[in-house]
Amino acid sequence: MLMKGLKLTMDYKDLANLIFPDAKEISYYEEKYPERNLKERAVVSRFAPSPTGFVHIGGLYQALVAKEMTKKTDGVFFLRVEDTDQKREVENGVTGIVNSLKDFDILPDEGMITETEEKGNYGPYRQSLRKDIYQAYAKYLLEQGKAYPCFCSAEEVEEIRKKQESAKIRPGYYGVWAKCRNLTVEEAAEKIKNGENYIIRFKSPGREDRKIKHHDIIKGNVDFPENDQDIVIIKADGLPTYHFAHAVDDHLMRTTHVIRSDEWLSSVPLHLQLFHELGFKAPKYAHISPIMKNDNGNKRKLSKRKDPEAAVSYYKEEGIPVLAVKEYLLNIANSTFENWRRANPDKSIDDFDFNLNKMSVSGALFDMVKLLDIGKTVISKMTAEEVYNCAMEWANEYDKELAEMLENKEYSLKVLGIERGNKKPRKDISKWSDVKNSIIYMYDDKFFGGDVSYDYGKISDKAEIEKITKTYINEYFDINDDKDIWFNKIKDLAEKLGYAREVKAYKAEPEKWPGHVGDISTVLRVKLTGRQNTPDMYEIMQVLGKDSVEKRLS
Ligand code: GLU
Repeated sequence: MLMKGLKLTMDYKDLANLIFPDAKEISYYEEKYPERNLKERAVVSRFAPSPTGFVHIGGLYQALVAKEMTKKTDGVFFLRVEDTDQKREVENGVTGIVNSLKDFDILPDEGMITETEEKGNYGPYRQSLRKDIYQAYAKYLLEQGKAYPCFCSAEEVEEIRKKQESAKIRPGYYGVWAKCRNLTVEEAAEKIKNGENYIIRFKSPGREDRKIKHHDIIKGNVDFPENDQDIVIIKADGLPTYHFAHAVDDHLMRTTHVIRSDEWLSSVPLHLQLFHELGFKAPKYAHISPIMKNDNGNKRKLSKRKDPEAAVSYYKEEGIPVLAVKEYLLNIANSTFENWRRANPDKSIDDFDFNLNKMSVSGALFDMVKLLDIGKTVISKMTAEEVYNCAMEWANEYDKELAEMLENKEYSLKVLGIERGNKKPRKDISKWSDVKNSIIYMYDDKFFGGDVSYDYGKISDKAEIEKITKTYINEYFDINDDKDIWFNKIKDLAEKLGYAREVKAYKAEPEKWPGHVGDISTVLRVKLTGRQNTPDMYEIMQVLGKDSVEKRLS
């Protein structure tokens, strides 16, 4: 005993020093990243994606919610890049994330601003640059015997799992299965000195047969068994696991609200335990339900693999207005949004009082029809100049033909100004990729392209069509007419050619005429535009101008 006692000169501190000889005291970091000086109830939250080269619409949704909460409370929203899983990383992954947030005007107050640059006093905001910090906190746990080095190889851990599986026991590294948890400090030190590979595990004080109660801002009250898993906190490459980095970072970055995907809800017992054992105050959690898709009657998560609309890049490529996407996301985030919008059709979404408590517990169904409908409304409220600028920006990247059409800015503004700025503005454009189709006939060089045969509706006889357009051009058309005179002249034309002057009269006695003024208008409209449905024909003619109208009608 005495011999052994003599040998016991090593304690947890010595072991911690052996493992992380250069790590700083945690007090250094606690002072370096002080409590934030914000007003009471200010929310500090973050978007913390991995740079995998793909930004999921669900991620953007979380970022938007976090941004709304911080904005409304004069808090701080930051972007932290979680790149500790270096296998999953792609080149320029951070740039992709930064640009997506920029595209949707969800700008972080702090954090990464380019692939390599950042702003703010709580960085580095890229986890791979925070190795020293994690190791300091791992050392702190080791010093107290709350963490330990584990020498089990991947094969041994797999072996354990198999045994548990065949014995139908809960899998994992815990309790009696946690072999290395019971090594003495000397045994562990010996192995380290012999060059054995190891990782650092958390020594969980939890018991599976005890329950914890947790209040989640979105999910409400939830009960969980305590965590008893000795999870890995520092991996063989010296970097932390998500769980450990989450605790250290959100503590040091002084996050008040962790707003994240509900796939992490079941990790809450572990996270609360980590915060507790590290001596940190735990943040509040808000676990967001995923955006779902109706797949032939089955509700499932929007999938990166199956659904193009799962990627944030999709919305940009399709030209769905940024404002429409944000408005749609707010719509699914807060069920009160829709009523608010109805009552305040002209207010900016910034005026909406977003409420985290009102987020739905289950996942909202993604509804493209609704999104495009919002797109239509959003675009209908824009000025011609705004539509022009957005369409041009989109076209420059995705549609050269449209960009060329729009080059004639003065004319294009007139085209886009048709039925705009009035009480009932045109609502035929839901996304920038619709613009070309909705205005292409207004451009002579496109209109006179091929030999298309149009559908003139009720009047299909070629000679009759010719007669209508010729008579109109020769006897009635005058580009200087005001709208009333113009319309009266079309009625005159109808009457002259034996059609009903008024639709109402025709409907009362349809046998009296071959058709009515509306059928005549349709012929003119189709001849002018190739389509039966267009915005106001008078405005169209005004924008086309005398020469183009005459050319089209003859
Ligand atoms: N990197 C984690 C993820 O993308 C972050 C989760 C969190 O927000 O804490 O799922």
